Amino acid sequence: MGRVNNRTKVSPSRAAYKSENRKMSNADRSAYFARREAAKILRRVLEGDAQRRAIASIKSLVYAPSVRNKKGTFALVCKTLKYLPVIKDVLEAADLLSNKWKRQKELIYVIMYDILLGQKAHLAGDAEKFLMRQQSALQSAVTQLLSKKKANSIEDLITRGDDDPGVSRPRFIRVNTLKMDVHTAIKELGKRYPVQKDDMVPDLLILPPGSDLHDHPLVADGSIFLQGKASSMVAVALDPKPGWEVLDACSAPGNKTVHLASLMNGKGRVIACELNESRVKRLQHTIKLSGASIIDVLHGDFLKLSPKDPSLSKVRAILLDPSCSGSGTAAVRLDHLLPSHVEGTTSGDDLERLNKLAAFQRKALAHAFSFPAVERIVYSTCSIHQIENEDVVQSLLPLAESHGFQLDTPFPQWQRRGLPVFAGANHLLRTDPVEDKEGFFIALFKKKQNTTNPFPRSLNIDKSSRYRSGDVRNNRALACPPTKISKLRLYQYALSTRTRWRKNHSIQN
Ligand code: SAM
Repeated sequence: MGRVNNRTKVSPSRAAYKSENRKMSNADRSAYFARREAAKILRRVLEGDAQRRAIASIKSLVYAPSVRNKKGTFALVCKTLKYLPVIKDVLEAADLLSNKWKRQKELIYVIMYDILLGQKAHLAGDAEKFLMRQQSALQSAVTQLLSKKKANSIEDLITRGDDDPGVSRPRFIRVNTLKMDVHTAIKELGKRYPVQKDDMVPDLLILPPGSDLHDHPLVADGSIFLQGKASSMVAVALDPKPGWEVLDACSAPGNKTVHLASLMNGKGRVIACELNESRVKRLQHTIKLSGASIIDVLHGDFLKLSPKDPSLSKVRAILLDPSCSGSGTAAVRLDHLLPSHVEGTTSGDDLERLNKLAAFQRKALAHAFSFPAVERIVYSTCSIHQIENEDVVQSLLPLAESHGFQLDTPFPQWQRRGLPVFAGANHLLRTDPVEDKEGFFIALFKKKQNTTNPFPRSLNIDKSSRYRSGDVRNNRALACPPTKISKLRLYQYALSTRTRWRKNHSIQN
């Protein structure tokens, strides 16, 4: 996440509000704060996008406890993003922003949306008044732009579609069985919505698309979690038993961590490792909300956990859900609204970033095999890219084998399996970002029955092997650079997915 520069932060501070607006009506006041909340979120989204960093999604930023008017703020952020290219063009043509306003450009964008396309009412505030005074300059910039682009209206200038492609996605709810049984949850939710049970994931309920439960008391008290189906399949694939010790290697914000505790009936121990300090706080919040008492948070680098550490010697299962490109959840995250998506990132950039992510993913998976008591490992991503999925798994098959592991088939009844790029890829599980509304990948490694590590690494592996445990620190040692074919498949897959997605949402190329 990009750091917000305090000097230029858009702050809806009470002091500024008081000095700017002594006699505001209630409607003016709520519009004033909504625009500033939206501007704050917009700043974080745009900073993250500019740095191509994995940031929290627009939705998760909006649904943070500090945001008061969630629905209004979400709509304003999405609409401003949708019209951002036009807003920027108009501002550039009008050339009226001094440095003072440039430092608050996100707030200016939000107000510009209201002036150009939204409600012109309730435009109280200094920035609002400044832009209202420039209305004739703005209007002539719009006229120029329309004539240059041969368009009749501002809407004609926008080629992007829905604000929220999630409108057709069912709402999945995972019941936190540590706090509530499924039957009671169905009864409670059934008072307001038709509720169905999912046929594959236990404790998962399906509500109609558009069901908004963010403010529901059962969400607020942690009895239910708003968690997608694919994401909920991951902990179930690991299948931890009550009483086991389980390591969640990359755990924040902790949805799968608390799911593990729930599947273990609150018995045993879950060690939740997380590198990023601010995300540790989110993890702790999720754990507290879930009521789970068997989770120990470990703030640190999974790669630096020693398999020889006695406190990890009984870990029987590892869930590895490492940082990934998030390409499978781009639609859910509303990435199509972001400038980088519109501009079309260069494939060179993308491939470099994917290769870096894949290098970490390979190191992390290699490390997971080295824990002495581990019997089951799940490797999962929310990426659609072969480089982060099948290629990672394939490159580590010899190491897995050397530790006595083989691929197993999570959810055998699920139709969509891994891309057929190596023998055995049919064990892998994929969900499709269009058909299943989210693109996830799951690989399950299981220790072979009656096998006590027939090939101890230090003894049986050829000294020249690239997979010796000491080599995991070296990216290149484990790197299996994507072949031309795999690169091609990556782009073919991404392209076909994007085309189908755009078709489904009536977006023209
Ligand atoms: N499993 C989580 C859930 O379902 O809520 C999502 C995990 S997210 C995809 C990946 C997480 O791994 C991020 O929070 C990131 O900060 C963390 N991470 C990245 N590198 C790590 C490392 N070396 N050790 C531990 N955690 C790491």
